[in-house]
Amino acid sequence: MNEHQRHVKARQDIMKGNTPEKRIFVHMEDLEEKKKREDEIKAERERKNDRMDALKEAKTPWFCPECDKVMNKRLDDKMYRLHNHCFDCQVKFENKLRIDGKYDEWEEEKVLNNQLSYIKDQIESIVDWKDEASNPFDIFDSVGVKEIELKKEKWTQNKEQVEKMSEEALKELNKMKEEVEEKLNSLAI
Ligand SMILES: [Zn+2]
Repeated sequence: MNEHQRHVKARQDIMKGNTPEKRIFVHMEDLEEKKKREDEIKAERERKNDRMDALKEAKTPWFCPECDKVMNKRLDDKMYRLHNHCFDCQVKFENKLRIDGKYDEWEEEKVLNNQLSYIKDQIESIVDWKDEASNPFDIFDSVGVKEIELKKEKWTQNKEQVEKMSEEALKELNKMKEEVEEKLNSLAI
């Protein structure tokens, strides 16, 4: 029996009030779901790319917003992206911190902020991975009734493992996040 014949038979079964062969419905639904899911992932990826492009295109203004100096491409570009003012302003800013005895704290704050954004990225990627793993659609694709049951079982185990692993990792990361946030809060600059 080919796929088309199976569909015809399933329709006939439904008309007669019988239970149709289950396989077709699992298969059909999942293909649709899979397509939907793929479209969603694609759209999300495009949205992310757009955001990246927007960031890349954010141009450095001609004049430093703080001292009105004409900005130098090579020196000031990076500084502007990091600190929203020119290189000279940053040097002045850091000198003032040194004089006030706050430079070390400021450095530490920078390091902690980097750690925090790294931890947040990790958390996000684990959540993504977990969502991805609990998505069963690929497994049901083009397999027979008996195989569906087998693979479903396999998938459930895998899912449990992923849940367990991601839960552990998330617990650890959230703890780290709290610690870093606490340290950041204790630095009052
Ligand atoms: Zn400036």
